Amino acid sequence: GNHNRTAVITGSTSGIGLGVAEALAASGCNIVLNSFTDSADDHALAKKLADDHGVEAAYASADMSDANACRDLVEQAAKRFGGVDILVNNAGIQHVAPVEEFPVEKWNAILAINLSSSFHTIAAAIPHMKKAGSGRIVNIASAHGLRASPFKSAYVAAKHGVVGLTKTVALELAETGITCNAICPGYVLTPLVEAQIPDQMKVHGMDRETVVREVMLARQPTREFVTIKELGGLVIFLCSSHAAQMTGTALPMDGGWTAQ
Ligand code: NAD
Repeated sequence: GNHNRTAVITGSTSGIGLGVAEALAASGCNIVLNSFTDSADDHALAKKLADDHGVEAAYASADMSDANACRDLVEQAAKRFGGVDILVNNAGIQHVAPVEEFPVEKWNAILAINLSSSFHTIAAAIPHMKKAGSGRIVNIASAHGLRASPFKSAYVAAKHGVVGLTKTVALELAETGITCNAICPGYVLTPLVEAQIPDQMKVHGMDRETVVREVMLARQPTREFVTIKELGGLVIFLCSSHAAQMTGTALPMDGGWTAQ
């Protein structure tokens, strides 16, 4: 079990990040939830995790586009819980546009939030993990860390960057007991994705099943979404002792997308 281990999950008030936080809390970890909104709902999510799973949980607001805020998030977590054993870099945003029209501020924001934030949190976490003699770093990349799609230049560049960062950090930490791996999900049924289905049905004049199968999951051979629970299970495995010799990997969980 993960009792007395502390996990920091960036971008964890919704979707995959929240699901990973729930899985880690259920395994006994103390949890630091993060987003940049600092709302009453955010703090309530941490309280619910603590109550549901009998662990300690705190919400910490930090904007992952801000280098100092990224580093401070890790330092504050280490101060409050006495260390950071597990770091999950999950915060991410998307913007879709042809490269010659891609807004510069969107490019900069995506590179900052989806890639540079991981550099900063990892740099801040390593001294604490080295002191403990162990640690787990899990970066939520994407199938777009391994494959490209048109109109997603910033996202694809950032996610390929996450895979490169993951490999480099793994090599630097190879003899420390700290592993660093990336997970590359295909299309995941998050609330955000779920909310797009009615619009897609209207635009394409299709029923739900056809939109999911022919539009959303066109590149996912199983024609099924990856679930948040399945991703949580992979994170738990990577954080376990069974994964001690897995480091520097980019693991697809993508219904066969990257087999093509
Ligand atoms: P989501 O929008 O549901 O959640 C994103 C989280 O990041 C939220 O908690 C949000 O508050 C937080 N966040 C956004 N900008 C932030 C900032 N500047 N500072 C701090 N927090 C910030 O998204 P999701 O679908 O759960 O995606 C999570 C991760 O998984 C992302 O990195 C995404 O690229 C990746 N991913 C998602 C899918 C998918 O199909 N949903 C597929 C592959 C990879």
